[in-house]
Order: sequence, then structure tokens, then C-alpha cells
Amino acid sequence: MTGRGDTTVLHLALRVEQDIFLVRQRGREVAVAVGLEHQDQVRIATALSEVARDLLAACDGADVTFAVVTYPDGRFGLQIDLAPVGPLPAGTYQPQSGAVARLVDALGVTTLDGVTVVRMSRRAPSNAAQPNAQRLTELRAELERAVPGDALDELATQNQQLIAALDEVRSQRDELAVLNEELQETNQGVMALYNQLTEELEETNRGVVALYAELDEKSAQLRAASESKSRFLANVSHELRAPVTAIIGLGRLLADEGSDPLTAEQTRQVEWIRSSAADLLTLVNELLDLAKAESGRIEPAWAEVDLRAVFGQLRGTLRALATPSEVALVVEEPPHPAVIRSDEVLLAQVLRNLLHNALKFTERGEVRMRAKRREDRWELSVTDTGMGIAPELHERIFEEFYQVPGRTRVGGTGLGLPYARRLVTLLGGTLELCSEPGRGSRFTVVLPTGGA
Ligand code: ADP
Repeated sequence: MTGRGDTTVLHLALRVEQDIFLVRQRGREVAVAVGLEHQDQVRIATALSEVARDLLAACDGADVTFAVVTYPDGRFGLQIDLAPVGPLPAGTYQPQSGAVARLVDALGVTTLDGVTVVRMSRRAPSNAAQPNAQRLTELRAELERAVPGDALDELATQNQQLIAALDEVRSQRDELAVLNEELQETNQGVMALYNQLTEELEETNRGVVALYAELDEKSAQLRAASESKSRFLANVSHELRAPVTAIIGLGRLLADEGSDPLTAEQTRQVEWIRSSAADLLTLVNELLDLAKAESGRIEPAWAEVDLRAVFGQLRGTLRALATPSEVALVVEEPPHPAVIRSDEVLLAQVLRNLLHNALKFTERGEVRMRAKRREDRWELSVTDTGMGIAPELHERIFEEFYQVPGRTRVGGTGLGLPYARRLVTLLGGTLELCSEPGRGSRFTVVLPTGGA
């Protein structure tokens, strides 16, 4: 009873009610023999008994063939063909229970050598060993030898399977309930965390807002303080200028040859008064300049400025300062086209100040002024071979009245650099310093070619 080809393992006739149990039982046995998993054994047996019942009712029975088939992907499975004894109603088959199709991989009607059969199949697990020809022969023999149990036995087996299935459903439901509970707990945790985070964020936000308000207030206070300082400086220096100028004038008058002659001591004292008053006037003038720049009262007069002219003028006026010392003043010719949109007077003031400082703080070597064009900006640098400035003082020397200790004997007010930086900012640029003690300094004015 080997049926078609080598792959058939069992052949059965389904004719009467009793045979349904037989088909079911043998179906399970074949499934076991082929290596299907326990769940699949139950599934295939259940599907088989349902289809057998349908076909018995509709077509008076069927011939059932069990075969082991190989799929295109190399795996194998169990295939069961039920060839109806009578014609299928409307030539097709629809299981009474819709759930049957879900128990197997495939269930449908197919035509084999002109015979219409109902075919179902289930794949074996990927790790199952495919039976070879010898094993199939053994299988056939085993199945033929096996004495089928009676309907009661099969009913008992079916009951056990049902109980096992119910147990499994119950344990799955319990597991699900536990999972659900855990999920709810996690959800609550997440919500709590979210609320806490939201609260913290709001608090931080409130803090930041308060901080900003405070910052605004402080900067308004700072602005007000800076304005009143500038006003104070401007007023005081303005008020001082007239009397100081008068003192200088009177001193000159006293020392004049046309006036009554003075004793040597008087001459010395008058000279001292005059030089002190001159220093004071410089300070007053610089204070006034700075106050003006800080209060924004300096409005640059923008124009096309010829750098060669500015450099030439500075070369001429400052040469006198450099001689007869051991310092050479080199003012290089700016590269062509040496034009920049700026304020000529303010720019000359800044460069003069830098050259003045460089000559003041250099005992030997040279002071060099050079202009370099870099894309859309000019770099105007004043380099000296003087005493240099320690890195920690690079910013301090731009503070008002700051002078590097020990260098004050060369004079000055400590107002030149803060003023120069103010002016450069007004012109839309920056004033940078590169210096090392003992190796000289380089102050660079960087300005946009097209103005601020
Ligand atoms: P001052 O009227 O004293 O020159 P500045 O504001 O122009 O005031 O300069 C501040 C200080 O920076 C100076 O007193 C000096 O100590 C230092 N300084 C400025 N330029 C140079 C330089 N080229 N080399 C060394 N030190 C310098």
C-alpha cells in the first residue's frame, strides 16, 4: 500500500463515521513519524478530522494519502491529499469551520492527473531531519504494522489534547495579565518621571527668566554708571582746561625776557609749574577725547582714505621723535591700491599713538609700520624691538589709566591705548596685540576695506 511515488507513506479509505477517528489518529501518527512538533501534530490531526467530516457529509467519503514532500527552499513537510469519492459540490471545497485553514500552512482544492483532491500541508521545523528513502520505507512498514485504536481511544487522546490546550491558554492568559500589570506600572513610572521632568524644566525656566531679568537690570545699571562716568570726566576735564591753559600762559609770561627778571630759583620753579601744567593739559585733553569716544559723540567722517598719504604724513611727523636715538623708524610704503573707506583723522590718531608708544618703549633696534591687504580687510601693524609686554597684561594695558609698573618714568597717562581701541571699534575694526617680554611688541589694527 505505498501509493504514488516514493514519498507516499500511508493510504487510507474514509467511508463511514468511524473512519474519521481513524484518519485523525493516523494523521497524528504520521505527523509524529515525520518529525512535526507536538503543537503541529495536534493541529494537523484536528484539521484532518474536520476536513474528513466535511467530505464524508458532502461526497460520501474520500481516499486519503499521506506523503512527505520537499519544498523549493530545500525544507520538507507533510502533505495530505483527500480525493473525494463523489463529486465535490460546485467542484470546490470550503471548510465548515473557518478556523481549520489556520491550523495548517495550506488548504485548498487541487487537480492531480484529472482527479480533484483537497490538499493540506504543514512544514516540518527547520531543524528536523528529512527522512531518506530507507527511512520512508521503514515508516511505511511501521505505520502498516501499527494497530489502529478504536474511537474511544481516540476520543480520550483528543480530550487530553484539549485539556493540555486549555491549560496552555490559561497560563498564557495569566502571563498576559502579569505583563499587563507590569506595563501599567512602567507606564505610571514613565508618567511620574515625565511630570517630574516637566516640573523641573518649568522651574529651571523660571530661574533662567529671573536671571535674564536681573542681567538686564544690571546691564542697564552698568550703562547708566558708564554714562555718568563719561559725563563726569567730560565736565571735569572741560572745566580744568581753561585754568590749566591759563597757568601755562602765565608761566610763559613770567619767564618771558620782557618781564621783570627772575632769580635762578624763581626761574626753576616757574619752569616746573609750566611743565606740570603742560602734563596736566595733556591728561585733560586725553580724558576729554576718551569721554567723547565713550559717550558716542564721535561720528567718523567716512571717506576714501589714501593709506600712502597717511603713512607719509606720520613718517614725517614722527621722524623727529626717533632721532637722534638708537631706534630706526621704518614706515613701509603700503601696497597698491592703498585705499580704505575710513576716517583719516581718527585713523592717523590711532597709528600715531601706537608709533608714539613704540618709540617710547624701545631703547634700540627699530620701529616698523607696515600695511598688508588681506581679502576684504587691511592689517596695519606697528612692530617694535622694545621691552615687550607680559601675556597676563595684554588686556590690562587697554584699561584706562593702566601703565605697566616700572615704566612710568617715560611719562604718559595710561589713556592712549583705551582711546585707540575705542576709535578702532568706531571705525569697524579691532586692535590686537602680540608681544613677549624682551622680544618686542606688535600692535595690529585690523579694518574692513569698505568701512564699518
Ligand atoms: P601711556 O600714556 O602710558 O603710553 P597707553 O594706554 O598708551 O598709555 O599704554 C599703556 C601702557 O602699555 C604703557 O604705559 C606701557 O606700559 C604699555 N605699552 C604700550 N605700548 C607699549 C609698547 N609698544 N611696548 C611696551 N609697552 C607698551
